[in-house]
Amino acid sequence: LPDYAYVYGLPYQLYQEDKIRRYGFHGTSHQYVSQTAAVSLKQPLTAIRLVSCHLGNGCSITAVKEGKSIDTSMGFTPLEGLIMGTRCGDIDPAIIFYLKRKTGLTRDAVESLLNKDSGLKGICSVNDMREIEELAHAANPRAGLAIEMYCYRIKKYIGAYAAALGWLDALIFTAGIGENSTFIRAGVCQGLAHLGIEVDPEKNDQKSFSAFEIQKQGSRVRVLVIPTNEEREIAEQVVACIEN
Ligand code: AMP
Repeated sequence: LPDYAYVYGLPYQLYQEDKIRRYGFHGTSHQYVSQTAAVSLKQPLTAIRLVSCHLGNGCSITAVKEGKSIDTSMGFTPLEGLIMGTRCGDIDPAIIFYLKRKTGLTRDAVESLLNKDSGLKGICSVNDMREIEELAHAANPRAGLAIEMYCYRIKKYIGAYAAALGWLDALIFTAGIGENSTFIRAGVCQGLAHLGIEVDPEKNDQKSFSAFEIQKQGSRVRVLVIPTNEEREIAEQVVACIEN
């Protein structure tokens, strides 16, 4: 990541002395699916610009410019960024001080609330997306809200990263939700035609154990569903390391 993306707007010595900066997570997965996307696009990874959405129980989104991450949504810890199964993602940090003053919760209790009782679970009491989708289809309003919030946050990041990249060749969906949820992929991509992202509902409906494309014919940006394989990426990196 470039320094302007990883340094927080905090006193600079907190970065220098305490190493407080954006680190990012899910790098192994983002690397694997980016490489696989390059193969699908029949272009070298160093020639394309991608946004990779890892949507599992933990969720993160990364902007990949010519093979290098230039920004990513998880930060100093995995708590920042997208709304996740049980993590809140981005919030106003002042909420933490307000919460402590108002409720008298301990630091550990607040930390646990933000990590384990927030996100999708905090909104609708359930953190498994399959169950949330069922509840939403049965007109459960909180499940509907959780899904809207979830998709909206991802959409905002896609817009931000398209701006950071200056161009977008492909949008990637991966991990449990990204690979399997037709409904979430459609919700995220809805209204992004102005960025060149248009999904074909029939292609989006397919199930496969290998990578597939779901963009409409004529969509400027390719939309790829790629099963992640972090174990393989780790093994390949270990082999490369040993061979070097
Ligand atoms: P992961 O952490 O990558 O294993 O992903 C776990 C998440 O994927 C959970 O929220 C699951 O509910 C979700 N998931 C798995 N399969 C499906 C599916 N068919 N439809 C929607 N969500 C799914």
